[in-house]
Amino acid sequence: MHLVHPDDIIHGEELERIADALTTHAPGVDRTTYAVLKRELDPWDADRVTRCRGNLQLLYDPESRSHGLWPERCQLDLWCPHCCIAEFEARVTFQHNRIASLNTTTSAFDAPQAALYHVVVTSPPFLRPLLHHPAPLLAFQRACVAAIAAGFGATTDRERAAWLRTHGGFMNLHPWGNNDPFEWSPHYDMLVAAFEADGSIAPERWPARYEESRTAFRHALQREMSPFLGRMPVEQIEEAHATLQTNFRVNLKIVVRHVGTYQERELVLPEEAIPSVRYSCRSFFMPNHLTASKDKRTGVVWIRYANPLGARGSAYEAPAHSFFQRLYKLADFLGANRLTHRPFGVLYGEAYTKRMRALGRAPVVEHPPRGRKRLGTYVRRRKGEFEYRLADTRGGPA
Ligand SMILES: [Zn+2]
Repeated sequence: MHLVHPDDIIHGEELERIADALTTHAPGVDRTTYAVLKRELDPWDADRVTRCRGNLQLLYDPESRSHGLWPERCQLDLWCPHCCIAEFEARVTFQHNRIASLNTTTSAFDAPQAALYHVVVTSPPFLRPLLHHPAPLLAFQRACVAAIAAGFGATTDRERAAWLRTHGGFMNLHPWGNNDPFEWSPHYDMLVAAFEADGSIAPERWPARYEESRTAFRHALQREMSPFLGRMPVEQIEEAHATLQTNFRVNLKIVVRHVGTYQERELVLPEEAIPSVRYSCRSFFMPNHLTASKDKRTGVVWIRYANPLGARGSAYEAPAHSFFQRLYKLADFLGANRLTHRPFGVLYGEAYTKRMRALGRAPVVEHPPRGRKRLGTYVRRRKGEFEYRLADTRGGPA
């Protein structure tokens, strides 16, 4: 936020300077990134990326009793180097705090602490072509949740429903794996709130043997995915159908912490919870991982995308046009929506509100009010020219 005195008259050129200073350099974003996005994205997306550099909101912060200018969010989280990072940070806070809010071992005056199991549930390769479609991907989500519930001994529909009323977590889609960042390899990275039904911290070990959890996952896949096989490419249907009837391999991996120390444990304790949440719920394409350079000899612009999953320093390099072509194919799975990031069980919807009411706590909401009052917006008309619009106060604080 750029602090201003409310009585100051701010001229167009000054606003222009402030707008640029506030928004052309998102933290950690290479300067070339903006230019590359503007040139390589579809015109509609490119146009929207620049929108949050255009308009400035005049805000009043009651806590610091100060007025300030803040760039308006374009809310195009996937492509915008500014909003993408803000959205990611907000998501980390939301998921972490919502998991922590189930913990009853802290008093009403302390911030509750998160404890979780970090579970990775992968898709078997023969089903991956199906998972490009929303309905089968949602069915795959149900299979993942069933496998988690079975890990706690809830295997029948009835037991699972009961388990979901007291337990839950977040599932975050990781659409690609460790090697080629654009190879479709969908898996859910799951943060399972590790609290007993009474809200106390759960045991250090995952309750079931892995093999039992995997078997439950396989059965859940057989039940959930069969109805969608007809959507597969014709030549794959028969093989997929046959495979689904067998004991095909599935993978459900509990991320084990502190391997090799005195005691291996699977529970992620409060002090390690934030790094786990950050790893799990980031957007998979983040413009701040991108740098561009021009090959002077050929004139081709190359993208270097630091692979956030790969070994330290590993990166993917490709000419800009093919980089963005491949990225667009995965675009539905890179932003924030119900396919990519969602709570399940007691952390979801009305169940969560009820649980918090029972605990006498305020629910953790997705977009907590920032407490800043929006007074108006400077809307950029032309270069160096702004129009001031008073905020519509009926809508309440921004
Ligand atoms: Zn933006």
